[in-house]
Amino acid sequence: QQLPADSETSNFVRQVSGACFSWVKPTQVCNPQLISVSPDVVELLGMSITETQSEWFLQAFSGNQLLPQMKSYAMCYGGHQFGHWAGQLGDGRAINLAEVVDIHGKNQTLQLKGAGLTPYSRTADGLAVLRSSVREFLCSEAMYYLGVPTTRALSLMLSGEQVWRDMFYDGNPQQEPGAIVCRVAPSFVRFGNFQILAARQEQSLLKQLMDYTISYDFPHLGAPDIEVYEQWFREICQLTLQMIVNWMRVGFVHGVMNTDNMSILGLTIDYGPYGWLENYDPQWTPNTTDAKGRRYSFGNQPGIAQWNLFQLANAIAPVIGRADALEEALQEFGVLYTQLSHSMYCQKLGLSVVAEQAVEHKQQSELISQLLDILTLSEIDMTIFFRLLSGISQNMDESFTDNHANWMDFFEAAIYQPIHFKDNALESLNEWMRGYIKQINQQPITDEQRQTQMNQVNPKFVLRNYLAQQAIDKAANGDYSEIEKLLKIMQKPYDEQPENVAYAKKRPDWAKQKAGCSMLSCSS
Ligand code: AMP
Ligand code: MG
Ligand code: MG
Repeated sequence: QQLPADSETSNFVRQVSGACFSWVKPTQVCNPQLISVSPDVVELLGMSITETQSEWFLQAFSGNQLLPQMKSYAMCYGGHQFGHWAGQLGDGRAINLAEVVDIHGKNQTLQLKGAGLTPYSRTADGLAVLRSSVREFLCSEAMYYLGVPTTRALSLMLSGEQVWRDMFYDGNPQQEPGAIVCRVAPSFVRFGNFQILAARQEQSLLKQLMDYTISYDFPHLGAPDIEVYEQWFREICQLTLQMIVNWMRVGFVHGVMNTDNMSILGLTIDYGPYGWLENYDPQWTPNTTDAKGRRYSFGNQPGIAQWNLFQLANAIAPVIGRADALEEALQEFGVLYTQLSHSMYCQKLGLSVVAEQAVEHKQQSELISQLLDILTLSEIDMTIFFRLLSGISQNMDESFTDNHANWMDFFEAAIYQPIHFKDNALESLNEWMRGYIKQINQQPITDEQRQTQMNQVNPKFVLRNYLAQQAIDKAANGDYSEIEKLLKIMQKPYDEQPENVAYAKKRPDWAKQKAGCSMLSCSS
């Protein structure tokens, strides 16, 4: 292909064969303005808050003036979108600036999102708007503090430019403020980076990327050979599994689990139309584009992760030359998910984790599945329910449990539709509570101990869509105080923070239908 003279830095859109990435410079912006930084990430990278106020920080992390040793590039990857092979996608609006060594001696890649066109921008503009950038900035940090593997965010800036977006896909585009987030992760390599090379049958480059990834991100595996490749895949399965179990624990729905959005390190990546379960519903997805098929609904996430891993296995199998160990690892994913998910729910319920053969294990499994059925049938807020459940006492006797109305009071803060509780839902809950109290009475720990344990895995604060939207609405008017406030609250999601109880309440009625507060489109 004939390249323009300055091909090293050209951002023109094209198919890029025979390469894992392209050198590309961020686009200059007219009037960058720093909105927020995550103080912990600043510290992690060995910087001070004072430095983030400096001119060089503003220019570097808006993409205007890179620091002397930065050499920026965009990665080439493909992916399956909604189950269909989509060919080359690539970093259409993400540009890696540099790798730095953090204060723990770990490599971290700094990546701008929304800093202009790259060879992979396809028909889009390479930009990001304020609302989606606020959501990415806040949520990736919130996830980190929840203990969920994730990419992180250093900074959030306004570019000073206006960006056209058709937010509702109704043919009525509007101008919105452009924004740039600097994301941080040990690696931004995705399943799709391997898939694109496999699809193009660029096998030696594929092997090169596999070897690079192993030596760079999985150095403990040693020099690559067939067994190492297989062990590497097993580890990717395990990392992915940990991420998914954590999503299920905190009620996070990613919304766009395409294979290009699956990190090779099992990090939650690409915060788009994500959401948090409010009323527990495995079929719920925040993504309006997926409202019909619900491919990426809450309950489908484990199965989709396995499907995505299968696609990765398909991509790397030709280099390995055999697939039996990969198939085994994929099979094992399902088995391990069942085990880990069981332990996770036991922890959420404050039940001790017992051996799979034990009688209690079966009782626990029944208790868990019955509870999930009850939560699904009634409109109960998942986060608030588990937090309230930790307040149950071993001494609640039949005189309490037999009065169904007591449960309406006890769980009132979590119930969206009291009316749905009229019939057998309340009876089922009552029945379940009796069984639960029986179980906790068999355990050798006190109510206080159980409550402490439960409150370490059941967050009080999650970044509910309507909370993020309130911060976005204020930010659109130049008031960034709510972003700071949320960032602070989400740093301690398991603490009581009595002064912030308003942020732990169930979604208000007005937010159910309001744009951005429940469902979201992919427009970002
Ligand atoms: P996503 O669904 O957000 O993972 O995006 C899928 C692909 O589209 C990725 O390769 C993105 O980099 C690219 N993309 C999304 N939005 C834009 C945009 N505004 N400009 C350029 N590329 C984009
Ligand atoms: Mg993506
Ligand atoms: Mg995206």
